[in-house]
Amino acid sequence: MTLFEGRALAAEIRAQVADEAGVCAPVLAALIATEDPATEWYLGALAKAAAAVGIELREERLDDTNRDRVLERLDALSADATIHAVLCLTPLPEGLRLSEAGERIAPGKDVDGANPTSLGRLAAGLPSFPPATAQAVMELLHHAGTPLTGAEAVVVGRSTVVGKPLALLLLAEHATVTVCHTRTRELAAETRRAEILVAAAGRRHLIGAEHVKPGAIVIDVGTNETEEGGITGDVDTAAVEAVAAKVTPVPGGVGPVTTAVLLRNVVAAAREARDKAPLRFS
Ligand code: NAP
Repeated sequence: MTLFEGRALAAEIRAQVADEAGVCAPVLAALIATEDPATEWYLGALAKAAAAVGIELREERLDDTNRDRVLERLDALSADATIHAVLCLTPLPEGLRLSEAGERIAPGKDVDGANPTSLGRLAAGLPSFPPATAQAVMELLHHAGTPLTGAEAVVVGRSTVVGKPLALLLLAEHATVTVCHTRTRELAAETRRAEILVAAAGRRHLIGAEHVKPGAIVIDVGTNETEEGGITGDVDTAAVEAVAAKVTPVPGGVGPVTTAVLLRNVVAAAREARDKAPLRFS
């Protein structure tokens, strides 16, 4: 088994992004509606990565956590011609779902696929920005030269931000896709058929050796906090490595590629705006 690192691929993507950012001076606005330590950590990492490739990150902090205020600010950022991309960070004020907030992000600026229109366009095979995490999984598979046409792919998790868009991306590349969730009757029976297994459930060590077909490629999207304050994935890597051909580590697998892909989407949005290309995203 080989560990399937994401850091080198992320660095490659960031290098391409840096080249392009120099030409179109991209600006990403990040709306922070409520204070949260994990969000602050993510924002810090994003700010550093954006600065390193020449993307300006504008933080929009709201001092009142009112849902109408969030929606108003997203409308304003979507209409602001000096901003190319908009990200709405969670957690959101109580009673406001990400998909509702996402509806207020213009599809051309929706670089993390939060607008349900983006998911609909993805399902219809039209240009859109899929959520960066789902794109990152595809990048890792491409980078490893994994054959996708006709491959048995199983995705564990059906969320709007990871599982569903990833299933659509795999389907678009002609994989035969099964999506599992908490009501799946026999998880191991489904996952053991997978040549490509993606774990995106948010359950520590949900996937053990008994879930994996010998020689499978296993991508671990999960990030679960450990008692020691670190993170660990959904895959019991120590057990699975004896069976799988490749497993992504957590941390250092999907995470860094997700950030790099998000930045690439920002540059693409800025380029679209600069070129006033036909309205691909509306
Ligand atoms: P989510 O909204 O909580 O969805 C989890 C999905 O997993 C649901 O569809 C759920 O099924 C399914 N699930 C949970 N327990 C299961 C079990 N025991 N057996 C089978 N299916 C199960 O989570 P998410 O936002 O998709 O995120 C998933 C994980 O990825 C989390 O750990 C999150 O932190 C991580 N993540 C990582 C990145 C990254 O860049 N690395 C980005 C986003 C998310 P039901 O639908 O039936 O409830």
